[in-house]
Amino acid sequence: MRLAPDELHRTADERLRRDGQRYTAGRRALVQALGSSDRPVTMAELLDCADGLAQSSAYRNLAVLEEAGVVHRLLTGDDTARYELAEDLTGHHHHLVCTRCGAVLDVEVPAELEAAIGRLAASIGSEAGFRVDGHRLDLVGRCGGCRAVADA
Ligand SMILES: [Zn+2]
Ligand SMILES: [Zn+2]
Repeated sequence: MRLAPDELHRTADERLRRDGQRYTAGRRALVQALGSSDRPVTMAELLDCADGLAQSSAYRNLAVLEEAGVVHRLLTGDDTARYELAEDLTGHHHHLVCTRCGAVLDVEVPAELEAAIGRLAASIGSEAGFRVDGHRLDLVGRCGGCRAVADA
């Protein structure tokens, strides 16, 4: 479940304070940009959509936001870090990762399928004596655009 913008900023502010950090304008702009995106974004994309953000401070601010549990950094295998809001701020979802162009898309799974994934995860965990509290599942393949190129 995605938080409303004012609630998102209030939560981000609380988490930073808990870490002894301030919710500065630069950090707020990053959270705003991440909150309005429907997929994980790269630093280049973030700098594009958040006006007047310097790259040097953006990296530092993202690290502070990540440490405070506001931002999640994704590494999908193409050496380009992508950023999104922490899952408890946006709702549970999965990623579709294109191995050709590197695109990463968010996908929400219908409840009954999600329940089936949860049961599967619990059973895989219990085989190893592990109690599963959650899962992260990225699907790897080719996006629509890259499939079209490959088929042409
Ligand atoms: Zn692609
Ligand atoms: Zn899931």
